[in-house]
Amino acid sequence: MAGAWQGRGGSARRRRGCCHDVVVPIPFVWSDAVLAHEPMHEVWVGKETPGTEVPYRAHLIRDALADAGHAELPAAAHDDEVLLAVHEAPMVEWLRTASAGWAAGPYEDLVGQTRVVPYVFPTPMMTAGMPWRYPAAAHARAGVWCYDTMTLVGPGTWEAARAAVDCALTAADLVVTGERRAVYALCRPPGHHATPAGFGGSCYLNNAAVAAEALSRHGLRVAVVDVDAHHGNGTQAIFWSRGDVFYGSVHVDPGAGWFPHVVGHADEVGDADGKGATLNVPLAPGAGDVEWVEAVAAVCEAVLEFRAQAVVVSLGLDAAGVDPESPLQVTDAGFGGTGRLLAALDLPTVLVQEGGYHLPTLGSLARTTLAGFDA
Ligand SMILES: [Zn+2]
Repeated sequence: MAGAWQGRGGSARRRRGCCHDVVVPIPFVWSDAVLAHEPMHEVWVGKETPGTEVPYRAHLIRDALADAGHAELPAAAHDDEVLLAVHEAPMVEWLRTASAGWAAGPYEDLVGQTRVVPYVFPTPMMTAGMPWRYPAAAHARAGVWCYDTMTLVGPGTWEAARAAVDCALTAADLVVTGERRAVYALCRPPGHHATPAGFGGSCYLNNAAVAAEALSRHGLRVAVVDVDAHHGNGTQAIFWSRGDVFYGSVHVDPGAGWFPHVVGHADEVGDADGKGATLNVPLAPGAGDVEWVEAVAAVCEAVLEFRAQAVVVSLGLDAAGVDPESPLQVTDAGFGGTGRLLAALDLPTVLVQEGGYHLPTLGSLARTTLAGFDA
């Protein structure tokens, strides 16, 4: 099976010039506002560690794509209608106002903390069925919505997260009108860990889910293919009970101790109308190109069986062997094969940037994957 993916797509998609093939790289959608989010640091097992989801990531990918001839398209502003179809309004409103609320409190003076970070999580185990009240303190409210200590909110977080949603929606607009067959949304911060009413894993608003919902509203059966190294628990949660949106993911096995830890297992298949519309292919730590590309091929087969009419790709680049955030060992060849398999679906496709944290290779990995979509 490993050989089947090599060379698929590509040549049939190129326009012939008089003397040689003319390759047109896939365009990408950009907003300067995605740079406004500066997490400053993360808190992992109680310790402050340097933030990994830094603005420079987006710069690197943008520069690599520009150098390779990808056209840059500006993100257009969209209202909140589709966003509020995938996220509950109180969480969205809290995210919009959280940083200002935090700045009004004593946290910077008391402990030098300028970022919103929870210290208590009012889980069902805490409330144990008793009546629940929304906490008064900003440092307690944070844990209502944020489920980890890795996803801090600062002064530009809302602006960036909301701009990333506009990038995804602009890309969806372009493919749904037929203006473009495939468009890449250079979203930052990433989104696939954001659930209907919760956020974490460096994600705030679920850009891929918003794009899928937008395409779905045009009457299309939509498949989300998540190739980030980590399971997209947020996207799975959003579409868990829906039969019109498929979610398929290839990721490091949470059962082997990896984020998001509690979901992303092979026996999760959806519920109610969505039963059978979720497919997880977890891989063992250390898995490389062969296992990775076979898994992507299996998800693509399922997309075809689902009779999808449009695809949203959660494009994480952190499965790379050099990436510090996952134990997978995918190389350039694996990412190239991934891009060709996704392009060979030959469906209108929105690619949404998710993770990827090895700065020296981030731009080239994006370019390598997107090359499969060059027309
Ligand atoms: Zn990831």
